[in-house]
Amino acid sequence: MRYELIAGLETHIELSTESKIFCGCTTRFAGEPNTHCCPVCTGQPGALPVLNRRVVEYGVMAGLAVNCSINELSFMDRKNYSYPDLPKAYQISQFDIPLCQDGYLELSDGKRIGIERIHIEEDAGKLIHRQEDILIDYNRAGVPLIEIVSHPHLNSTEQVREYVDKLRQLMRFIGISDCRMQEGSMRCDVNISVRPVGETALGTRTEIKNMNSISGIVRAMEYEFERQCRILERGGKILQETLRFDEATGQTTPMRSKEADKDYRFFRDPDLLPVYISKEEIERIRAELPQLPFVRAQRYVREYGLSPEEAAQLTGYRRVSDFFENVSGSVRTPAVAAKFIIGQIFGRFRTEKEKEAFEIKVSEEEFASLMKLLEEGTINHNLAKITLEKMMDTGASVSRLLDKDALKCISEEELDFMCRRALETNPKAVIDYKKGKEKALMALLGYVMRESNGKAEASDVREKLRVMLSE
Ligand code: ZN
Ligand code: MN
Repeated sequence: MRYELIAGLETHIELSTESKIFCGCTTRFAGEPNTHCCPVCTGQPGALPVLNRRVVEYGVMAGLAVNCSINELSFMDRKNYSYPDLPKAYQISQFDIPLCQDGYLELSDGKRIGIERIHIEEDAGKLIHRQEDILIDYNRAGVPLIEIVSHPHLNSTEQVREYVDKLRQLMRFIGISDCRMQEGSMRCDVNISVRPVGETALGTRTEIKNMNSISGIVRAMEYEFERQCRILERGGKILQETLRFDEATGQTTPMRSKEADKDYRFFRDPDLLPVYISKEEIERIRAELPQLPFVRAQRYVREYGLSPEEAAQLTGYRRVSDFFENVSGSVRTPAVAAKFIIGQIFGRFRTEKEKEAFEIKVSEEEFASLMKLLEEGTINHNLAKITLEKMMDTGASVSRLLDKDALKCISEEELDFMCRRALETNPKAVIDYKKGKEKALMALLGYVMRESNGKAEASDVREKLRVMLSE
């Protein structure tokens, strides 16, 4: 029998607010254990939480980015469970009425993955297992999270891969999280079930907890799909259980029941007011959102003639895309500027982090003026490349670089001399040209451009050669 895969994802994303969700402690990653803490985030008796307004704004931004409707009124609830990383013995989260609901994320083939809800909540601390001991670091306790819950609309590991990738790109782009899976600022729980192809009822699902790499998610899903299919083939039953994926063995194993206990006894947190956000406020946030990366990418293809791959590269990172946006507004051929950004500027960055930070010594204005010189034919492609390299190395301006080394330094006499040399050393091109082969001029032009180290003005040289050839 053939089976199909059905998966839904719960994605936890740490928000990059300055301070934690209910206190003023820093959210900075790492740091000496238990130094980013206070009575509130370590659950001391009598300490009272105060909701960070920024967390609500970021949550709304996330919701709008994935087409959710925003609830003007939502509530903070207690999710009760006891575990050492949770000092209050409850997590403050949202239960029946979350901040955002009913959205979707569209995959590249047009399929829409439904988003059931997005709620805000606090992160727990971190347990560090060291030989016999378990150490606890509460630096992460109280770091704000959003949890994005999808419908079970994902039917292959490829779709899951694209969904996670897009979600990450989107949340980074709107600036609410760095979404670094390896640092744990983006983590996924995968709900997975199988059913015979043609069947409409959902099968029993299992949940794989806390995945922090896309490759891990894909491997875990492949393993779990096979495992569930094998059980059904034999006529067995799938147990609804919570699993852990072991990266080393590539297998899923059930978690201890204590960790998987689902009897949370949710109730409203009496220490916190309901979360109210007005329509006006929601509209203000909507207006401040950047145009989303996929929309920008489509525009780059449609209006500037970029390839979809180029457009995807430029919109992969907010700073890069903003840089290109500003440059493309002031040049005639944005596609050429795009090639310089992707080829030369990206060439300087090794890691994702570097591309994301996009730290270069060249301002948008300087880059645009270089591109304009190229468009006007004042400099050729080669000189533009050399100049851009120097700009990136030294931060010097276009005018300084080109004044010093170039262009105007070539005298009429030098240019005359180079053109005569070009004719003398390329007799075949001269004959071809005189026979009417316009293209032969390119060989002569190329010679002069090389001789002048790209400093000659191509249009001047072409003119001069034509005159000489007609003598
Ligand atoms: Zn604190
Ligand atoms: Mn959660």
